[in-house]
Amino acid sequence: MRFVSFRIPAHRVPLPKVLLFEYQFMAKKLKKPSAKKVSAKATKPTKKAQSPKKNRYVYYFGDGKADGDGKMKPLLGGKGANLAEMTRIGLPVPPGFTITTEVCTYFYENKKSYPPELNEQVKAALAKVEKSVGKRLADRDNPLLLSVRSGARDSMPGMMDTILNLGMNDEVVEIVAEKSGNPRFAWDSYRRFLQMYGDVVMGVQKREGEDHEPFETVIEEVKHAAGVEKDTDLSVDDLKSMVEKFKKLIKERTGKAFPQNPHEQMWGSIGAVFGSWNNDRAIVYRRKYNIPHEWGTAVNVQTMVFGNRGDASATGVAFTRDPATGEKVFYGEYLINAQGEDVVAGVRTPHPVALLAKEMPAAHKELLLVRDHLEKHFRDMQDLEFTIEENRLFMLQTRNGKRTGFAAVRIAVDMVNEKLITREEAIKRIPADSLSHLLAPIFDRQSVKSAKKIATGLAAGPGAASGHIVFNAKDAVEMAHKGQPVILVRVETSPEDLRGMIAAEAILTARGGVSSHAALVARQMGKVCVCGASALKIDYVQKTVTAGDLTLTEGDFISVDGTAGEVYAGEVKTAHSEVVQVLVEKKLDPKKSQTFQRFASLMSWADKARKLEVRTNADTPDQVATATAFGAKGIGLTRTEHMFFEGDRIDAMREMILAESLDERKTALAKLLPFQRQDFIGIFQELKGLPATIRTLDPPLHEFLPQTESQQADLAQKLGVPIEKIRRRVEELHEFNPMLGHRGCRLGISFPEVTEMQARAIFEAAAEVQKKGIKTRPEIMIPLVGFPKELKLQIEIVNRVASEVAKESKVRFNYLVGTMIEIPRGALVADKIAEDAQFFSFGTNDLTQTTLGMSRDDSGSFLPHYQELEIVKNNPFATIDQTGVGKLMEVARDLGRKSRPEIKLGICGEHGGDPESVKFCHRIGLSYVSCSPFRVPVARLAAAQAALEG
Ligand code: PEP
Ligand code: MG
Repeated sequence: MRFVSFRIPAHRVPLPKVLLFEYQFMAKKLKKPSAKKVSAKATKPTKKAQSPKKNRYVYYFGDGKADGDGKMKPLLGGKGANLAEMTRIGLPVPPGFTITTEVCTYFYENKKSYPPELNEQVKAALAKVEKSVGKRLADRDNPLLLSVRSGARDSMPGMMDTILNLGMNDEVVEIVAEKSGNPRFAWDSYRRFLQMYGDVVMGVQKREGEDHEPFETVIEEVKHAAGVEKDTDLSVDDLKSMVEKFKKLIKERTGKAFPQNPHEQMWGSIGAVFGSWNNDRAIVYRRKYNIPHEWGTAVNVQTMVFGNRGDASATGVAFTRDPATGEKVFYGEYLINAQGEDVVAGVRTPHPVALLAKEMPAAHKELLLVRDHLEKHFRDMQDLEFTIEENRLFMLQTRNGKRTGFAAVRIAVDMVNEKLITREEAIKRIPADSLSHLLAPIFDRQSVKSAKKIATGLAAGPGAASGHIVFNAKDAVEMAHKGQPVILVRVETSPEDLRGMIAAEAILTARGGVSSHAALVARQMGKVCVCGASALKIDYVQKTVTAGDLTLTEGDFISVDGTAGEVYAGEVKTAHSEVVQVLVEKKLDPKKSQTFQRFASLMSWADKARKLEVRTNADTPDQVATATAFGAKGIGLTRTEHMFFEGDRIDAMREMILAESLDERKTALAKLLPFQRQDFIGIFQELKGLPATIRTLDPPLHEFLPQTESQQADLAQKLGVPIEKIRRRVEELHEFNPMLGHRGCRLGISFPEVTEMQARAIFEAAAEVQKKGIKTRPEIMIPLVGFPKELKLQIEIVNRVASEVAKESKVRFNYLVGTMIEIPRGALVADKIAEDAQFFSFGTNDLTQTTLGMSRDDSGSFLPHYQELEIVKNNPFATIDQTGVGKLMEVARDLGRKSRPEIKLGICGEHGGDPESVKFCHRIGLSYVSCSPFRVPVARLAAAQAALEG
């Protein structure tokens, strides 16, 4: 078919006294926040960062001072820049240093080696860290432990590697055990380090045919031998034995002993983190989110603080507002006596952050102050990582939080109302595509009532979806490829599941909290997701999921409500979103829907900012009604042939195509005329005076031919002709390359009577509607024009019919005739074409197909590989190929304006609803974009962003 369907702890790190005082002082000041002004002024700007010097590869932060700052994300990565910024604004950040992204680039360009200056710079920064905390790496009295973490310019959650507790070895573990008076903690930290180092640096991972990670298998063995269920119940001796087993495993699998030298460990970890920039999942992630491969990651080496130091220690992640709904509540979770990766991995289900008020009141209070400070300073919702070591709070990360489309709109609009950001900032900040989340379906109330709820979990990704159960990413991809809706059901997800998560309609996990991998990734993708549905027992071997006495098997239907956090057996019907219920169905009182109200505020701000008009591609009055409710200001493309798929019309259409003489064709056209007229009446009435660009017949005719034996027999019977006649005519009409065959205006040139019938249907409909007092503004559009004469001949017909119908009906028409620019020749001779055409509409589906010489129907088989190899950055059928197709558009624009300066320019290819392409259309000065009805709000927002970006 041609209708392209696109679509993160034993040694206390002393906080320097000055800094501690500063922080407490600041915390007091923060108790009564004032948010009167729009708030670049909400917190004091910090002293200027040192400007990046040539060959400077290492930036220190600690003791309230930092070489870098929050603006240096390209160089320091998001994590490094914000660690520097948090240090500068007086938050309790353990000291450390960031190795820049330039080193990553150097690493890959120079056979995985480092710039010569790096060694000395790392030594100097490490010495500063050691001085600051009064400990030294590999020291026998006071050993320093470090973390080594990645951090790209844009966050890539969970995609790259992290090493914690670096510096541990057989000697250091004993010193830490003695100094902390907490041997359990020391040995737990050592085993964690071995596990991470063994996996990430030495490559001890699951082999083909193994079901579990080898380190996890050892943990399970030790737990089993000790007769305990939780890691936290393991004794010191259990942990010691685990450490021995881990070392043995490493030796067995790699042939090498785990390195005892902490400096060697540090360099090994730095290399592994840089190396993880190019692991498979990071590459997949970058491709999905258009993160350039050449950006590279920074590496952050930081003093360890320990959340696993007993019951007065914890680690957690939190969002300053709810990232799923956008509600202004402190939202997060923590685990007592744990390290960061336990929270994110979803292995233990953590406690909601509100409980921290009871369990660790002082740290909780401090955390709330930090929350407030961070939001005012960064003026956006923050996603933060913290560790509490023996009741002291440390901040390990902050970044602008990933959020659902729902939350993006709510947070931005609420922040404008709180006077924290301006309207323009709100517009620029919301990814235009996220508006589609607000329009996504919810479960139909009636259907939900009769469905069997089998589990509840955390509402991690709003929306509703039903689909077939699959238990792994590979099956998800395969089934989705066959067009089947699938729900990926996992105990928990890990970055390896990414491809399956992309393919699935929804993600359902039995374990893990709101910041588990599943939740983070789903939120960002806008996928429906319920996680931590603990009532579900998932058996990967039997391929079953059991809830109570109900067992569902792979392939069975399951339904997931990611807004309510509910799971249902079977298929549940979906219903329209609140915005659709208010605007389109008009069933919901706008005052009762806050979602709608925020949507409406945002849209009204966007409309004030944008210059591009937004129209819609619509073929029926219903589609027009939906699109105009979403703010379309007219039709940019009606594909008249789509009207022929309804009811008996296809028969008349086939009769027309198969006609062998003018008379036969005229007979068939006469049957089609009333249908077309009626359709246009409906469309004009619904448009209420808005313009309608209506295209004359365009498709390759094979799309309408009766191909199967039974279709041919059926048609023969209806027309009263022998089936052989039909079969022969179908064969005669066969084309080897119908896309480049007898289609577009070529049909109207061969069969002027077709154009004539369509023009008559349009004008007769316009006359009838105008007689009812409703204005009409038809814009008749001739497709696939390459030669100026083609257009001339078609325009003559349209103008003649217009004056005939005007005379017959005594109605004057306000109409235009123009053309599509959708083949390169049309663009190249646009000056000549514009002598006759009153408007151009870029048909970028065909213009892409013909410019690239790449079939829009067949490119699916090789384009993904082209994207992997980065031959093309995006799918050119979804996002305009600006340098190629875009250049032709600019040529056509300039030539068209040369002949007709006032010529109206628009776009009606699928690209009209794609935010990047909409921005391009703004930049090249088109007057409108046209897209499918549900993309209209997305296009309005993208157009506003384009205007504000200038
Ligand atoms: C186009 O080619 O961009 C277009 C809008 O026409 P169609 O998709 O119907 O070929
Ligand atoms: Mg086309």
